[in-house]
Amino acid sequence: MIDFHCHLDLYRDPAAVIRRATAAEVGVLSVTTTPTAWAGTSRLAEGSSLVRTAAGLHPELAHRRLHELPELVELMGQTRFVGEVGLDGQTRSSEERAAQTTVLEAVFAAAAAQGGRIVSVHSRRAVTPVLERIEQHRSRFAAIMHWFAGTERELHRAVEAGCWFSVNEQMLRSVKGRDLAAKMPPGRVLIETDGPFASDGTDPLEPADLHRAASMLASIWIVEEKAAVELIELNEGVLLK
Ligand code: MN
Repeated sequence: MIDFHCHLDLYRDPAAVIRRATAAEVGVLSVTTTPTAWAGTSRLAEGSSLVRTAAGLHPELAHRRLHELPELVELMGQTRFVGEVGLDGQTRSSEERAAQTTVLEAVFAAAAAQGGRIVSVHSRRAVTPVLERIEQHRSRFAAIMHWFAGTERELHRAVEAGCWFSVNEQMLRSVKGRDLAAKMPPGRVLIETDGPFASDGTDPLEPADLHRAASMLASIWIVEEKAAVELIELNEGVLLK
């Protein structure tokens, strides 16, 4: 299995996190929050065939780091993986919201032009404006809605737009998260930790914990854990082909 949204560079000991992921045979999509972090974060992946690094600019940093947008678009020429990018509806300032939109629209346009890109998308309280922008590009890149928390209607719209969904343990511990996961087409579901931001209640989640989220998905799908893992891996294969 692959953890499709993990901030490896933000753990206290990323090397130990990678060692435990490798022992658990779990792959990692290592997302970044600024283009500046990309070089150092990709170095963490050196020597590990299970880690891939994504180029990103987190919406909460878009305003302060807008000048790094050209660097992000350039990095997107070096990697197929993009993230974390998106919009955040909790942002109050209209200036900050405008910066988020500028970044997201430029990233989506570049992803559509470059082809084959896989983009991990943040959409907290901003699902509809994010989907409007995904729809403009008609599946010219693969959008993964990370920690999707929209309405059921927005979920259907995201499915229609061709989106994938990466769900995590913290999300699946809430009634709303489980309810949404149950309504996602199983063939579009991926798995993530969002570590070290998401936790198991005490400690930050890490890729080696992924089997717990798989087991929670198995109970939602009413299948054995092994069957859930097989389906998740099948989905990963379809996405990465
Ligand atoms: Mn994240």
